[in-house]
Amino acid sequence: MRSVENSYDHIIIGAGAAGLHLLLQIISRPSLADKRILVLEPSKKDENDRTWCYWEKGEGQWDHLLTGRWAEGNFHGPSHSVPLSLNGYEYKMLRGLDFYRYALEKVKASPNIHLHHEKVSEVRRKGEWMQVQTDGGLYYSPLIFDSRIPKAFEKKNDGHQRLLQHFKGKLIRTEERTFDPSTFTMMDFRASWKGSTSFCYVLPTSPHEALVEYTLFTDTLLSPEEYETLVNKEIEGRLKIKNYTTIEEEFGVIPMSDFPFEEQQEPGQLLIGTAGGWVRPSSGYSFKNAERYAKMVVDALVAGETLPTRPFKARHRFYDRILLNILLEENSLGPVIFEQLYHRNATDRILRFLDEQSSFKEDVQLMLSLDSAPFLRALKRLYL
Ligand SMILES: Cc1cc2nc3c(=O)[nH]c(=O)nc-3n(C[C@H](O)[C@H](O)[C@H](O)COP(=O)(O)OP(=O)(O)OC[C@H]3O[C@@H](n4cnc5c(N)ncnc54)[C@H](O)[C@@H]3O)c2cc1C
Repeated sequence: MRSVENSYDHIIIGAGAAGLHLLLQIISRPSLADKRILVLEPSKKDENDRTWCYWEKGEGQWDHLLTGRWAEGNFHGPSHSVPLSLNGYEYKMLRGLDFYRYALEKVKASPNIHLHHEKVSEVRRKGEWMQVQTDGGLYYSPLIFDSRIPKAFEKKNDGHQRLLQHFKGKLIRTEERTFDPSTFTMMDFRASWKGSTSFCYVLPTSPHEALVEYTLFTDTLLSPEEYETLVNKEIEGRLKIKNYTTIEEEFGVIPMSDFPFEEQQEPGQLLIGTAGGWVRPSSGYSFKNAERYAKMVVDALVAGETLPTRPFKARHRFYDRILLNILLEENSLGPVIFEQLYHRNATDRILRFLDEQSSFKEDVQLMLSLDSAPFLRALKRLYL
């Protein structure tokens, strides 16, 4: 039964990147201080389950939490290595745990926000209200923000493209001075797995410490042993590090898809984060998108306007769709396409493009820098 006690102005399901960005935005707005907000999250968020990397120009909101930042990097393609000068951008590294701790402190200090460590099992519409069933109770709100991946995404053969970005990383420490912390490796395709679109990246945070991660853009996962072999081969083979200690490990799978996440929500529900399509399909990056979209959503909430539901501009969705198709149908071409991209374009132009901040003219210039044949074949496969 609905009562004053179990009714909230808003319910946020999931206190991950998107849920916490949303909460921090809500907490920062004095006009929302009287709203009763419930956060439902089964995890205590007390482990470092991921490391977020993103780029931005100048000072950013999370700089006080960073464990690494770089203005210079390098890219290694199958035939060319390119030094990357980020021209005003910095590549930044933020441990998940540091962000969780910071956000949860803010939540604790906000008397209008109630955090329950409960798992949501069902959401249902009941007249004007959304009814949320958890393993601990029943709650009501006219508007819920939901970070659970919609069930329809699990279904295959619906005409949408699905690729996986999957990776294993190790944060390692060496006795000897091994790394140059002033520069990072964005992508190293020199040891691609069985000719697939797969690469390693290296993020050194001190002369003794670095995150070494092996990433694949393919449609099937590997076995745990295969990830282990790939990342160890990079550390011990390519980087020639024999004596090291593994401090932390991370494994992740990020969907890269043109699935219309935003069409899965019903009135009274806004899907957020990966569930809301906030992950850029062609890159898998989403931390900065979550920051951006959370702000847009809360701006609309404060102004009493319709909440934005379509992340990414139409033309960028189109570009992503084409690249996804190439990676799905001609996966072995990925290393060469990324090499052309980084070899023939200034890094800041690429980053602006990935942020959707590039002009149409810049997009065309960037596309003309790549061999057109794979893109024309993808267009033919998708539209003819
Ligand atoms: C290991 C890893 C590394 C990544 N690195 C980067 C990176 O470097 N840069 C980048 O931009 N992106 C990165 N990503 C991608 C993306 O940024 C993250 O996946 C991001 O955390 C997505 O935010 P989210 O809120 O959608 O999901 P999450 O952060 O996963 O949060 C979802 C939350 O919902 C909770 N939840 C799930 N089911 C329920 C339920 N039934 N009831 C209540 N709560 C529930 C979960 O416990 C979780 O806390 C990475 C992803 C992973 C997995």
